[in-house]
Amino acid sequence: MKPAPFAYHRPATLDEALALLAEHGGEAKPLAGGQSLIPAMNFRLARPAALVDLNRVPELGFVRQADGELRLGAMTRQRELERSDVVRRAAPLVHEAMPFIAHPQIRTRGTVGGSLAHADPAAELPAVMLAVDARFRARSRGVDRWIPAGDFYTGLFATALAPDELLVEIAVPALSARTGWAFAEVARRHGDYALVGVAAVVTLDANRRCTPGGARIALLSVGDGPMLAARAAAALEGETPTPEAIRAAAAAASEEIDPPSDIHATAAYRRRLARVLVERTLPRAIERIPT
Ligand code: FAD
Repeated sequence: MKPAPFAYHRPATLDEALALLAEHGGEAKPLAGGQSLIPAMNFRLARPAALVDLNRVPELGFVRQADGELRLGAMTRQRELERSDVVRRAAPLVHEAMPFIAHPQIRTRGTVGGSLAHADPAAELPAVMLAVDARFRARSRGVDRWIPAGDFYTGLFATALAPDELLVEIAVPALSARTGWAFAEVARRHGDYALVGVAAVVTLDANRRCTPGGARIALLSVGDGPMLAARAAAALEGETPTPEAIRAAAAAASEEIDPPSDIHATAAYRRRLARVLVERTLPRAIERIPT
């Protein structure tokens, strides 16, 4: 298939890109790595009147540390996050999840912002950003605002971004010294979209009990968007993470989700995967917390 006709713009600055989006009044789409948008256009699932190509906007590609946070420009390639020592040290959960996204060729073009804005419920990065409690900076010609990851995902392939807004930057907070992390997923083949995935962050106090708000367990591929397993987290908070406590949290996670059945897996199978993955991921996260 070929895409429906569209106009093509290649701005050289962020201001120019924002002006073009404003001008088209919601009829234009930003083009990042094109790994999801171009296939959707070829299948005519997306028919934007215009593309605003962000690939020549230098302000949008960066990895830097500021105010104790890791800051990522939206156009930073996924492969760069995977290869970056700064990301590995400052945001190890993000780094750990990167190789699970598709294949190296796709990660070489695909961007962090494109994945987050695309909001595929089976994508790794949205769940990871939810687990680490990241913030997303959105800009349009008149607005510059930060959106917590927890408020960003509003439904199936839907986000809080207005049609003329761009995701420009992601802020990932530093982990405390008593925090561990782990990512795991099950896919039919490595590189396929996951049937279920889990991104977990756990903080323990000096007595090795889980602190209030210290468990963030985000699931992917279990609903319309990434989901924080609140009941699973509540089952851990205040507890010493014994195998029994972890089993209770995993059981809570499988009960609080309402996963879909599709050609890839039944809802019952996804529920079971969620329990098994949470039960495997939490001990790995906890092992990483220094004694
Ligand atoms: P694009 O395709 O260019 O854009 C995607 C959408 O986001 C479009 O609607 C676009 O308008 C919008 N957009 C892009 N940038 C911005 C921005 N800065 N602000 C606002 N809106 C923006 N992904 C996974 O997570 N896991 C996988 O296992 C996986 N497997 C894949 C397998 C294949 C064969 C392919 C082709 C893709 C796969 N992907 C997977 C998707 C891949 O990670 C894409 O890179 C990603 O989803 C989209 O990023 P992109 O930069 O290519 O964005």
